[in-house]
Amino acid sequence: MSVTGLPPYDPQNIFARILRGEIPCKRVYEDEFALAFHDINPQAPTHVLVIPKGPHVSAADFLADAGDAEIAGFWRAVGHVAKSLGLEDAGYRLLTNMGADGGQEVPHFHVHIFGGKRLGRMVSVS
Ligand code: 5GP
Repeated sequence: MSVTGLPPYDPQNIFARILRGEIPCKRVYEDEFALAFHDINPQAPTHVLVIPKGPHVSAADFLADAGDAEIAGFWRAVGHVAKSLGLEDAGYRLLTNMGADGGQEVPHFHVHIFGGKRLGRMVSVS
């Protein structure tokens, strides 16, 4: 469900279909809480998405609705993936877009991991 102004969870969204194996992905990691795969349109030399397995529309929904074990397991998976991609020494960026102003396109909560080059200070807000 959605606790925000966003529509309720749509089980036909593209990431739900990836989770069900209906659409292929370049999988990086999977455990009981999370699936990580390469973004189809990478914005950095390394650009991986990490998604929880539960039906959460956005960061707001995930933080409101998910259980403590799910939240902890998801964020541990994010850290594990970044480390396994070899990004820890040089650094990386985590990003999640939420809702219209955040530019969220896919209505299943996800965290972007960017790395592999100097990314600059911040994203554009202009
Ligand atoms: P958002 O704007 O919602 O934060 O990011 C959605 C991301 O999902 C975008 O970076 C986009 O390239 C990626 N994406 C959209 N459809 C697919 C897909 O079918 N497969 C993969 N691997 N990534 C996708």
